[in-house]
Amino acid sequence: MQFTDLNLAPGLLKAIADKGYSAPSPIQEQAIPGILAGRDLMAAAQTGTGKTAGFTLPLLQLLSDGAKVQPNQARALILTPTRELAAQVAQSVVDYSKYLPLKSTVVFGGVKINPQMMALRRGVDILVATPGRLLDLYQQNAVRFSQLEVLVLDEADRMLDMGFINDIKKIIALLPKKRQNLLFSATFSDDIRKLAKGLVANPLEVSVSPANSTAERVEQSIYPVDKGRKAALLTKLVQDNNWQQVLIFTRTKHQANKLTTHLGSAGINAAAIHGNKSQNARTKALADFKNGRIKALVATDIAARGLDIDQLPQVVNFELPNVAEDYVHRIGRTGRAGAAGHAISLVCLDEIKELTAIERLIKQTLPRVTVEGYIPVNELPSLPLNTKPYKPKKPKRKMPAQQRSTSVN
Ligand code: AMP
Repeated sequence: MQFTDLNLAPGLLKAIADKGYSAPSPIQEQAIPGILAGRDLMAAAQTGTGKTAGFTLPLLQLLSDGAKVQPNQARALILTPTRELAAQVAQSVVDYSKYLPLKSTVVFGGVKINPQMMALRRGVDILVATPGRLLDLYQQNAVRFSQLEVLVLDEADRMLDMGFINDIKKIIALLPKKRQNLLFSATFSDDIRKLAKGLVANPLEVSVSPANSTAERVEQSIYPVDKGRKAALLTKLVQDNNWQQVLIFTRTKHQANKLTTHLGSAGINAAAIHGNKSQNARTKALADFKNGRIKALVATDIAARGLDIDQLPQVVNFELPNVAEDYVHRIGRTGRAGAAGHAISLVCLDEIKELTAIERLIKQTLPRVTVEGYIPVNELPSLPLNTKPYKPKKPKRKMPAQQRSTSVN
């Protein structure tokens, strides 16, 4: 299939050509005709599948017709879980709409609200927003929804994980009843289906990449290592393999900072990206990472969600995530669009439970790689994976005879 087969307006085809895309991706092939026909949509698609263009292109086409937007109104609302994703989606909207007379803007927290209020004053055709800031703007009368035609929930699963359910419900309650709804999620959990039930009507369901299939495109391995030696092993791996662009995941903000300092002192340019960093610091770190000024970006799961870095060659799990699905999201940062990717995980004995859960989820036993000088004191237990690591039972302590006596002489 070609983009020209999708009945898209010439201005959109021109913008697509400028991007250099040769053909629509599977999600685009499946979603675009349905959205253009005015259907509601439930799409299972992860970042990297081309989902953003999958909803943005038909959305722009639909908005090219219809009434002019009034002050403080938005005709389409795209909700995203994170500021980074909001900024990326907004950039896509700008890129794809460059030959169309449509206005768009993006609003998210962590930056001044006044410029966002100004941008909304004359109304926008497309508003990209994170939920919290959108509600703040609504409360301050900066945005109204009586002209709203389309709602897009992007990465809905992540919005629920991040605790936005109440904000989303509040926002939905503010919208006109008659509207088109597009829901994108990496997976369709029970919670997502529950949310969808009250949201989409007779939706077209499309699925392009079930949550776990990324795992098959990415070469993965486990490096067993003692906890205290992880930072040293990582430094060695970056240096020995001459990695130029590596995304490293830690569980906590504190660990991300600590590791960034460690890498820096070993001469590896690194930056941390997490929730405590200002929006400007995050944007700068991401830009420096993309243009090669820094080699290692150390991120927590939430901060990394939605980072659009194409064909990242190397992902490292410095610590395994608590939730096995997050492993799949993490390694989905590499091996995008069919390119080969590599993901390694540094795993210590404390993380056996997490490792087992991950291997069950992806239905693979990952190869173990040991590095001389870093072999852990206690070997990681080998298969079968579902056996719990051996823990000697504590002997029941018998009380000494004299204490068992009840006599109180
Ligand atoms: P997304 O899944 O929306 O985050 O998109 C992932 C990447 O794929 C983005 O960098 C897009 O620019 C790119 N992309 C989207 N559609 C296509 C296409 N049809 N052909 C090639 N690349 C695309």
